[in-house]
Amino acid sequence: MADHDLPVIATRRDEASGFLQNMISKGLGWARKYSLFTYPFATACCGMEYMSVAASRYDIARFGAEFPRFSPRQADLLMVVGTINLKQAPILKRVYEQMTEPKWVVSFGVCASSGGFYDNYAVLQGIDRIIPVDVYIPGCPPRPEQVLDGLMMLQDRIARQRHYVGNNQPIQERPGYVALTK
Ligand code: SF4
Repeated sequence: MADHDLPVIATRRDEASGFLQNMISKGLGWARKYSLFTYPFATACCGMEYMSVAASRYDIARFGAEFPRFSPRQADLLMVVGTINLKQAPILKRVYEQMTEPKWVVSFGVCASSGGFYDNYAVLQGIDRIIPVDVYIPGCPPRPEQVLDGLMMLQDRIARQRHYVGNNQPIQERPGYVALTK
């Protein structure tokens, strides 16, 4: 067979590498959404609902998020559970900064999301004033079903995100990150 009879498959280099990156990103997204390590920053009554979600009746383990981690360096999901007052705000921010990348934040209940009915000088009127939030769960306290619904929303979001190997965006450049002034 002459050379000019051979079939030619032409692929642009950027198309080929783009395809590969897409496949890697989807694989990482799939793995990450089913292996969430939660840091529960529980401060108030919503903590009881968090425990309820983790217990056998609702069993958050079914969603790959059963292991609470009490070191931020071993966690990639920050669940802010309950009221955050202004004195706690720098601590919450420090915990967020110490977590591994990539990381996500869930605001659990109206107190964390908006200050709730604590509309006063001592309470942070929503954690999104200091850290980026991926999912807000309403309710005072939220029902466990709402928490699972929020978790599934987060998993869907993680699956649709772009994932990289060893190339993470610095937290200062993440949308919603606000530097605290002393
Ligand atoms: S949202 Fe309601 S249940 Fe949760 S911490 Fe605030 S007051 Fe307590």
